[in-house]
Amino acid sequence: MTAEVSCPQCGAVVPDIEGPTHAYVPSAPGCWAAFSALRADEMLRFPGSEANNLVVDSYMAQHPGNGLDRRDRQSVFVHLVSLCAVTEREASPTRSPEVLRAILARQMEFPVIRRARGPGDLTVLSATDAMSLEDHDTRVRRWAGSVWESWREYHQAIRAALDASGVSALILSPDHEHPF
Ligand SMILES: [Zn+2]
Repeated sequence: MTAEVSCPQCGAVVPDIEGPTHAYVPSAPGCWAAFSALRADEMLRFPGSEANNLVVDSYMAQHPGNGLDRRDRQSVFVHLVSLCAVTEREASPTRSPEVLRAILARQMEFPVIRRARGPGDLTVLSATDAMSLEDHDTRVRRWAGSVWESWREYHQAIRAALDASGVSALILSPDHEHPF
């Protein structure tokens, strides 16, 4: 049996393996492998899923680095803005790339942010092995909501960045548009 280890950033209990990780995403190799496997699985089984971008947003926002690297600060912040758009503004997760572009077009520097209460209860493992497309989307949305909630002391700053980007009006799905 392979020994297990708890991912230092999200707390997922994963096989203690050697393996690649992302340059500025300090996850356990076993956690990065679980993320990579989930991405491969959804490309194969749920290629048109609304939630595919949300997997990336949730994972990146749940794995902040120490904030010393500009790319690390930027990654956590912009993916949180995207989570905000989906979880609070009912934007479709398919609009995530537009949100990221709009934030990056406007903002070059990002603050160091630190979670006060840990990474939340759900991890990438909660979204693995979905039974159906609907199950996949439900699991990913639950995980995304948990990650967003874990950063609650920064919600106001993130909302402000989303509002300032001007993308808010563009990303709302027609069902939620103001009638005027
Ligand atoms: Zn992790």
